Amino acid sequence: MSNHHGSEHQGRRAVGQVKEVTSLANPLVKDIKALALKKFRDSQNAFMAEGLKLVIDALDLGWEIRTLVFAKAGRGNPAVEKVAARTVASGGTVLEVSEKVLSAITRRDNPQMVVGVFSQRLVPLKDIHPKGGDVWVALDRVRDPGNLGTVIRTVDAVGAKGIILVGDTTDPFSVETVRATMGSIFAVPVAKVSVEAFLAWRKGFAGLVAGTHLKGAVDYRSVDFSGRPVLLLMGNEQQGLPDDLAASCDRLLRIPQAGRADSLNLAVATGVMLFEIRRGALKLEAAFQ
Ligand code: SAM
Repeated sequence: MSNHHGSEHQGRRAVGQVKEVTSLANPLVKDIKALALKKFRDSQNAFMAEGLKLVIDALDLGWEIRTLVFAKAGRGNPAVEKVAARTVASGGTVLEVSEKVLSAITRRDNPQMVVGVFSQRLVPLKDIHPKGGDVWVALDRVRDPGNLGTVIRTVDAVGAKGIILVGDTTDPFSVETVRATMGSIFAVPVAKVSVEAFLAWRKGFAGLVAGTHLKGAVDYRSVDFSGRPVLLLMGNEQQGLPDDLAASCDRLLRIPQAGRADSLNLAVATGVMLFEIRRGALKLEAAFQ
């Protein structure tokens, strides 16, 4: 009961601080629209996430919200008002905008009712110390935002620890990538590193580095992944793993295929591998029960 009154009160408080915006020329709106371009995401060190659920998840996971944008239709909606109050409480700005402005920000005809602008966050490679049965995924020069977002979502779903982006990659904070993560961008630690930095870090990795390769000598089902950290290394969509990264792997694994397709899609191959790695770990857990 008291919680209910508390949030109502918070909601009203936030409402007093909401800026109403209907003009596309508004500088705050222009700054948010600019986040569609990597150049501006980098200079503002920010990115955009769409949808009330995503924004709530992000706040629950401690991400810093800079601006909350919501459609007029959201006024009076208790969940929207609560998020608005949390934004104000953490020093962020709240904008109530017209449908036209929201469509322009999201570049969509039927935009979500809520959009959040958050500070970007990457983990430094030196802070990644896999232990026990931890699983990390390293992606070599991933190009496609849909693939990256899907891999982030899959890493989250399988309970792996995070992702290391190696070399020149698509931006994890692009609108397309964030959309494809379905909110997992806020739950999965992501690091971005050069090939050299990755190879140096890999030397200190006390576990199994499993690369996947169309010419891999080993069937992925024949490996025991249990009992040690695993780093799964996946190759670029067009070229696969380059020689230096392939040479850094303890094993190069192949997923046998039938039919005429040359290869699996990168995100699909990552999903197959991650659930196989987890299956090994679950079998081990079951054996001890
Ligand atoms: N033309 C690329 C090549 O020659 O490697 C195809 C790359 S594939 C689209 C992207 C990545 O997914 C590969 O580098 C590999 O890591 C993984 N992959 C896809 N199919 C695979 C398979 N059947 N076995 C092992 N890895 C696979």
